[in-house]
Amino acid sequence: MKILIAGFQHETNTFAPTKACWSSFVQGEGFPPMVRGADVLGLRDVNVPIGGFIKVMEANGRELKPVIWAGASASAHVTTDAFERIGGEIVAAVEKGGFDAIYLDLHGAMVTEQHDDGEGELLERVRRIVGDRMPVVVSLDLHANVTARMFSHASALVAYRTYPHVDMAETGARAAWILEDLMWEKRPLHRAIRRVPFLIPVNGMCTLVEPAREMYRLLADLEERPVVSVSFAPGFPAADFPECGPTVWAYSFDEDVAERTADALFSKIVGEESRWDVPFLTPDEAALEAIRLSAAATRPVIIADTQDNPGVGGDSNTMGLVRALLRNGATDAAVGVIWDAQAAAAAHRAGVGARISLALGGRSGVQGDAPLAAVFEVEHLSDGRFRFDGPMLNGMQGELGPVACLRIEGVRIAVSSVKMQVFDRNLFRVAGIEPERMKILVNKSSVHFRADFEAIAEAILIAKAPGPMAADPADLPWERLDPDIRVRPLGAPFSAFNTVSS
Ligand SMILES: [Zn+2]
Repeated sequence: MKILIAGFQHETNTFAPTKACWSSFVQGEGFPPMVRGADVLGLRDVNVPIGGFIKVMEANGRELKPVIWAGASASAHVTTDAFERIGGEIVAAVEKGGFDAIYLDLHGAMVTEQHDDGEGELLERVRRIVGDRMPVVVSLDLHANVTARMFSHASALVAYRTYPHVDMAETGARAAWILEDLMWEKRPLHRAIRRVPFLIPVNGMCTLVEPAREMYRLLADLEERPVVSVSFAPGFPAADFPECGPTVWAYSFDEDVAERTADALFSKIVGEESRWDVPFLTPDEAALEAIRLSAAATRPVIIADTQDNPGVGGDSNTMGLVRALLRNGATDAAVGVIWDAQAAAAAHRAGVGARISLALGGRSGVQGDAPLAAVFEVEHLSDGRFRFDGPMLNGMQGELGPVACLRIEGVRIAVSSVKMQVFDRNLFRVAGIEPERMKILVNKSSVHFRADFEAIAEAILIAKAPGPMAADPADLPWERLDPDIRVRPLGAPFSAFNTVSS
């Protein structure tokens, strides 16, 4: 048994400014860089889906035919050039033949300059060559927008179950066992698909908190023989095309079992629609609520500055929450991490204890944002080198470049020379700020910070401060959604929303 394997991952935000081109995939941009041929097997120990797949199949004694693995960070459309070159390499290898099954490591939210559904297009091209009978198994991100075309051309699709995504390799391993099932049974799986009729804000998908935690617990309970696989992809609610949205699906060799399983999970998710709504706050509401809650607390209240999250395309330099903290008289507050190399350099020139006048942050021309021109005290300086001690990236070295802690009234601001999401408490410590001792923390992150900060947080608030990435799908200028889908939990259907807002 020989298995052709390849990977091509992209999460496309059709509202973002910059496209993903060939060189984005060559570099990887946070993913491993592009690899080909036997080098793909070197991913076996990396926490990416193909890594988990390779490990299981090598242990099972299967021969693998690796083609290419390429990923790039979330951005606007994948260029036609990048799609045709990477997809073309996969299709060319498929055309050569000499294998009995296919595994593809895809994201499931790729929009290209030409195709709304990059994965559906690729799978259709592959299926056309190999015919109906060959098993083609695909792993997907939890943020996959799964299309009818993807379902019809894949023998099975399986998605991550954690966000933050700690189970990427595990999902590849799951795909491997589904493929083993298919090769053993030599008959197709029945699939049952349910489309959730509302978009879920990304902040509401975190599996460390309710309701997602409970939904994935139910999913795991349902996945018992004769059920082969159950997935729930809440989707990526920033891709403007008719199949954007959350999907539930189940596979079994028994049709009734697949249908019943999908129904059970779907009815739980849809039956508790209001729980998926994220209570977004304005910057002033968030500052006032944090001040109120922290008065009696022994642990910090954390405000997620989600719309300027560098992990989804923000520049980590908008000043809306700093202004709100100052306006409302917050004390013992810290903000991390503002990316402003010029300000960090000015602080290093001035030295610790100096008072410097500068225009901090606000350099990206984000609507409603501007630099904060004020006098700051330089409280701490460092070279920005640290170690990640939290659960994400644990043990790795971090480099923020020259770092400064700038203080204004009751607010300390960690300023870096390199842009980085607040994955870890040590991003504050490297600026001389002990996060546990603060009353209020503002983190430029949507969900990933929770891995290390949840344990020290009195409460977590989510603010919609100025930033380039709309956190609430209801705020996006949609044009092409399914007319019946609601743009947020309990919101109006897209068709009505469109009429009201125009
Ligand atoms: Zn994701």
